[in-house]
Amino acid sequence: MTVTGPLDVAAIRADFPILSRTVRNGKPLVYLDSGATSQKPAAVLTAEREYYERHNAAAHRGTHLLGEEATEIYEGARGCVAAFVGAASPDEIVFTKNATEAINLVAFGLTGSLGPGDEILITEIEHHANLVPWQRLALRTGATLRWFRALPDGRLDVDPSLVTGRTKIVAVTGQSNVTGVIPPVAEIARLAHEAGALVLVDGAQSVPHHPVDVTALGADFLAFSGHKMLGPLGLGVLWGRSDRLDALPPFLTGGSMIEVVRMEETTFLPPPARFEPGVPPVAQAAGLAAAIDYLTALGMDNVAAHEESLTAHALDALQAIPGVRIIGPDTTKDRGGAVAFGVAGVHPHDVGQVLDELGVAVRTGHHCAWPLHRALGCQASTRASFYIYNTHDEIEALADAVRYAKQFFGV
Ligand code: PLP
Repeated sequence: MTVTGPLDVAAIRADFPILSRTVRNGKPLVYLDSGATSQKPAAVLTAEREYYERHNAAAHRGTHLLGEEATEIYEGARGCVAAFVGAASPDEIVFTKNATEAINLVAFGLTGSLGPGDEILITEIEHHANLVPWQRLALRTGATLRWFRALPDGRLDVDPSLVTGRTKIVAVTGQSNVTGVIPPVAEIARLAHEAGALVLVDGAQSVPHHPVDVTALGADFLAFSGHKMLGPLGLGVLWGRSDRLDALPPFLTGGSMIEVVRMEETTFLPPPARFEPGVPPVAQAAGLAAAIDYLTALGMDNVAAHEESLTAHALDALQAIPGVRIIGPDTTKDRGGAVAFGVAGVHPHDVGQVLDELGVAVRTGHHCAWPLHRALGCQASTRASFYIYNTHDEIEALADAVRYAKQFFGV
């Protein structure tokens, strides 16, 4: 294994049980689909297992020791997430099902604050999770949806004239899940705030891969998913500035989030409890805390530097193959470790299938970013996405597999 850069990738790989399995007739697994979901280190699996084996109870309920322990673990995880993103207080962290639910929570909560004449500003490079909820908000309120357009290389055309006194919310991704583009979020947040608009950042692809500090970001809300950052499936996060969360009404309702319930009416707890109805996902929270400890021990600057070196390698290796087109920027400047590409004369699904036969797991399709693909002149693409456990040898395996696919299809 060729290991360069700031991470001890061999040691990291030994922490991920799944990476030692083989696929498709004994081939080593080359997992290049962390943009969809990351693999999980043993520490995360152990944290979940230990929770079930020793502490399992419904948090915030039982008047017994296990209930107390479950509550401590759940609230401890909230503190851990808060520290990871630089939140002012753990109360600014709301646990949701995933990033999608976190964004829906805000979009739904703003329903009463918008009306005809108001504008919602998004971008053409968004994942559907940060696009469709805003379309629905526009439909519910009569507000108008506007968007920053994608440039031909997938970067964002930040046209300041779109941010006006009518703009009420600006929602932008921290990193494109297709092209890896990192938009100038702090600049967009400054423009939005000068116009009096709120700012939501979809951090699903940025929080797992770069140091993120909500103060430096300048946003009002940040949404992300635990499962893309080594944590378990089923737990997402909404960070919100405390006054912004305070101003939002509940989204999902039921037990645990109430203050007083009468048959006629209910009053609600302050955030974060207001947004967390039902028995909380404590095992997942324990797993996410372990994932954050793992990433913190590596250092997020090191994580970002490792991915940058893999991305540079992938861009070079793929561009050296005749007929391969990178969809997105062809340098590592202001872009992260997701590399989408097309192979002339071969449908992305066919590329993906041949790669899979060779043990190389990538994603194909529009990656829930259909408008972006349309803007860049393609219906679909093949995407390789990287994380801490990927090696430079795996980038070579990707390039070899693409060459083989071309040969296989005779192009
Ligand atoms: N935003 C971006 C940029 C994504 O890449 C994804 C998932 O791929 C999401 C949002 C939605 O994440 P989840 O499906 O975990 O809610």
